[in-house]
Amino acid sequence: MEVRVANVRKEFDRFPALHDVSLDIRSGELIALLGPSGSGKTTLLRLIAGLEMPTQGKIFFGDTDASEKTVQERNIGFVFQHYALFRHMTILENISFGLKVRPRSTRPPAGEIRRRAMELLDLVQLSGLEKRYPNQLSGGQRQRVALARALAIEPGVLLLDEPFGALDAQVRRELRKWLREIHDRTGHTTVFVTHDQEEALELSDRLCVMSQGKIEQVGSPDEVYDHPTSPFVFGFIGDSSELPVTIENGEVWVGGRAIGIPAHETPTGPARLYFRPHDVDLIEADASMAGVVTASRRVGGTRRVELEVGGASHKVEIDLPFDHPAGEKTRLSFRPKRWKLFPAA
Ligand code: ADP
Ligand code: MG
Repeated sequence: MEVRVANVRKEFDRFPALHDVSLDIRSGELIALLGPSGSGKTTLLRLIAGLEMPTQGKIFFGDTDASEKTVQERNIGFVFQHYALFRHMTILENISFGLKVRPRSTRPPAGEIRRRAMELLDLVQLSGLEKRYPNQLSGGQRQRVALARALAIEPGVLLLDEPFGALDAQVRRELRKWLREIHDRTGHTTVFVTHDQEEALELSDRLCVMSQGKIEQVGSPDEVYDHPTSPFVFGFIGDSSELPVTIENGEVWVGGRAIGIPAHETPTGPARLYFRPHDVDLIEADASMAGVVTASRRVGGTRRVELEVGGASHKVEIDLPFDHPAGEKTRLSFRPKRWKLFPAA
């Protein structure tokens, strides 16, 4: 199912949680809504589910205006951060629940419900645990049951709100891979909410970066990582550094020196240059020295150097075995097209 969010605004007591949000979710894709806490991710998910109504704007399921559909008719599978399993029901009963409560006209026969639930139990790799109760399962297993339960109704759209947020890092990474595999097998249109950029980059076909109730950028993980369109996205996805610069005569200047970067369309005056620690090199300083190394540490397979330039500290990642010890005077060399200029704030 294709979902189109068109110019949606959502206010809570006049407080705008979402401003004019538009997003096309493609049929069969796994899209991640990524943003810091309070950016409006859950609100957008709840609007799609029909648990909230937009203050302005519309949501379409295919060609149908979703406001004409009840929550049931939207046929949504929903998984929350905190496992909302029924404690007094077995795992099998939990998975079957959505089908058992259907009106008689659309409810499959009991044998068929059981067959489907057992199949889903197998899909989420929990065969043999059908008679257990939720409190007999680990957190990771419970979230797999929650996913099986959401899939049981054969949802048009699957909505996952930080489903692995309460689990520890190792389990999260495993479940992330596992969810991607399940998605590739079942092909449900899936919206996955997370505030973890690594999770979003690894898991999604596309990601939608949100901040303060607005969509900042939508694109594939590569597009968003390599071509952030705003300082917010640059800073939120991956590691980044910001260098205050001046634009003059179509060139970028730092500390009274042109650094060999064309300014393109950036207007004359103060601007901000963004780059990633692994997209710059340190080269020998000349007369117009640009920086001093303040720290140098080995981090896993690379070395991380901190360089002070223009009163601010910048992280630079260099390949081993090279080193630039603290106190060394050096300057930044920017790799072609691996930086981005933004107007001064
Ligand atoms: P996220 O899921 O990205 O953390 P939310 O969608 O939960 O963000 O919240 C976005 C903003 O809307 C926050 O400022 C939050 O406090 C506010 N908000 C969310 N739900 C309600 C509500 N039911 N009543 C009042 N304010 C709300
Ligand atoms: Mg939330």
